[in-house]
Amino acid sequence: MTEKIAFAGLGNMGLPMAEQLLKARRQVCAFDLSEASVQKAVASGATAAASLADLADGADTIITMLPAGAHVRGIYLGPEGLIALAEPGTLLIDCSTIDVETSRAIGDAAIAAGHQMIDAPVTGGVMAARVGKLNFIVGGTEASVERARPLLDIMGQKVLHAGDQGSGIGVKICNNMSLGISMIAAAETLMMAKRLGLDLNRTHEIISNASGANWPLANYCPLPGFVDGVPANSGYRPGFSAAMMRKDLRLAQEAALAVGAITPLGAHALAIFSHFCDTGDAETDYSGISKLIGGDAWDYPFSPKG
Ligand code: NAD
Repeated sequence: MTEKIAFAGLGNMGLPMAEQLLKARRQVCAFDLSEASVQKAVASGATAAASLADLADGADTIITMLPAGAHVRGIYLGPEGLIALAEPGTLLIDCSTIDVETSRAIGDAAIAAGHQMIDAPVTGGVMAARVGKLNFIVGGTEASVERARPLLDIMGQKVLHAGDQGSGIGVKICNNMSLGISMIAAAETLMMAKRLGLDLNRTHEIISNASGANWPLANYCPLPGFVDGVPANSGYRPGFSAAMMRKDLRLAQEAALAVGAITPLGAHALAIFSHFCDTGDAETDYSGISKLIGGDAWDYPFSPKG
């Protein structure tokens, strides 16, 4: 296989994703602002790009996995950006979780320059990235998605086609807003049951199979001992950090504001996770929100005090 896969952004997620491609004997050229990150990829078999121009040179596919919208704009746009540097016809895959507006703007610019582009944000986190079990929620034309699919299949277990370019990000942000709200609902439910002196095992089992069930309660329980293998059982080590959840809830509020969507629970979930992060738990798993909710009700800033 002589194709060149250019990979920019070799952090917690990007490095294990690139390593999956290398394990599948694909040729990966690595670029990151951090030399240490590039060297980790090189140790796994990648070649190092000396510059963005070097990265784009001869690449069939460019994959990016960057922190936020500003980084994605910075790397793709402008005369020194990847869209200008890549050969027309290159497949561009942005896996970063960013705002919808940036994703669509980059996609429009890429297509205008003769490239194919999909947004392909992931669910699953670092553990899933290490074993090639990510889920990609993708936006783009059928042809672009099919072209990307062999690589996405190496790095992930599911490719979910959401619609046009930008839709993958849109669906992911909507999903994670629902997830953040649901996790708080699960924590509130179990913590109230605890204060009511109810048998928590029976409470969990009954509600997990009743009309009040939600995904975190049944599958990613915020209290230890109810579901195997969840972060609650190991001191809330992430998993998916509260800081990541705050970021996604922020993106959801930006998107809601931009289109006039009414999302009071999304706004409140952002306030609650922000408080949790600001009081020292940014790197705690997001299910650790139960520690805040289970605290002394009268010190809890979001409780009614009347
Ligand atoms: P990270 O901070 O660990 O890695 C980002 C990498 O990008 C860093 O190595 C950084 O040096 C590099 N970088 C930044 N600007 C760059 C530029 N201009 N050129 C080249 N490299 C640049 O972040 P991460 O945890 O790997 O997350 C990446 C993306 O994945 C984020 O958008 C995040 O929201 C999303 N995500 C993360 C998780 C998770 O569990 N970590 C889960 C799902 C989605």
